[in-house]
Amino acid sequence: MGKFIHKIETPKIQAFESYNKEKLQEFCQLLTLSQEELANHIISETPDFYKIEKYQKAIIITPKNFDGKVKIPTFSSHLDIVGCKPPTLDEIEIKDAIVSLKQGAKASVLGGDDRCGVWIMLELMKTHKNAVFAFFYDEEVGCVGSRLHCNLPIFKQVNAFIGLDRRGTYDCATYGTDSLALIDIATTFGYKEEWGSITDVAVLAEHWQIPCINLSVGFNSEHSQREWVDFSVTERTLETCKELAIEGQEFEVDLQPEPYLGYNYKYDDGLYDDEWEDIPLEPVFCEVCGSECNLYKFADGFICAECYLDLYEEK
Ligand SMILES: [Zn+2]
Ligand SMILES: [Zn+2]
Repeated sequence: MGKFIHKIETPKIQAFESYNKEKLQEFCQLLTLSQEELANHIISETPDFYKIEKYQKAIIITPKNFDGKVKIPTFSSHLDIVGCKPPTLDEIEIKDAIVSLKQGAKASVLGGDDRCGVWIMLELMKTHKNAVFAFFYDEEVGCVGSRLHCNLPIFKQVNAFIGLDRRGTYDCATYGTDSLALIDIATTFGYKEEWGSITDVAVLAEHWQIPCINLSVGFNSEHSQREWVDFSVTERTLETCKELAIEGQEFEVDLQPEPYLGYNYKYDDGLYDDEWEDIPLEPVFCEVCGSECNLYKFADGFICAECYLDLYEEK
C-alpha cells in the first residue's frame, strides 16, 4: 500500500433475493434462440412506442417521439453467443433462481452472456423507458456490430452508454472513457467499479467520447459449459435500469486513464486469459484500496476512480 490512508466503506446493498418464476421461464426461452431468431423476436416484441431500425449487424430502437433536444442514455447488449449451438429447453437446469446447463448438454455455453442483457432490455422497453436500445450482432468475435455501426448519428444525441454485458453481481465495469459522475450514480445502486476488457459500449464510448459503464447482469463463468446465471441478479439490474433517471444530464469524460495498466485477467474457471499486447509483468492495483479497476495516474502512483473521488471530496 502507498502513502494514502486506507479507507473501507461498505455500500448499503439491499439483497434482492426473490425472483419471478414466470419471467425466469421467459428468460430461458431466449437462451434457446439463434442470433437471427433472437433478432426477429426482439423486433416482434418491440412496443409501438418505439421505432425500429434494422442494420446489417445491429438493431437500433428509439422512442418515436425522440427529438434530440434532451439527451437520453443508450442501453446495449449483444445477440450472439460463444459457439453456434444454443441449448434446448431440455438441456437447461433451473434450481431456484440459478440457471445452468445439465450434465451432458451438447450446447457449448448456456448463453446468459448476453441473453441476460437482452432480457433486461426487452423488459425495459415494456415500460416505455426513454432511451435508445442498441442490440449488436457478433460481439464475441470482436465487437463486429458496434464497430460497423458506431458512427450512426443517433449516438451523437445520447449522454451515456450503459452496457448490460458484464459478469457477476455488482460490477460497474469501465473501459477508459469514464465519467466520475456516472460511476458515482452506479455506486449509489451498490455497484463497484471494476476494470473491463472490451465490449460494445466501450467501442461506442471511445468513438464519440461519451462515457460508458457496463453493469453486471448475473451471468458467471461465461464462455464455458459451466456458465450459470443468477436470475435474481438479472432482475435486480433490471430494477436498477428502471430507476436510473439520467435523461437530460450531461456527463463529461473527466478522467483519462493511463494507457493500459490493467492486469492479466483470468476467467473464474481458468479456461483462458485474455490476450493483450502490453501485459505488464506485475499486476497494478489502486494504491488506496488495492482494487484492480481502471487506474489513473495520481501523484506518483495509481489510484482508482472511487478512491480519487473520496480524496477529492475530502479536500
Ligand atoms: Zn458478452
Ligand atoms: Zn462474452
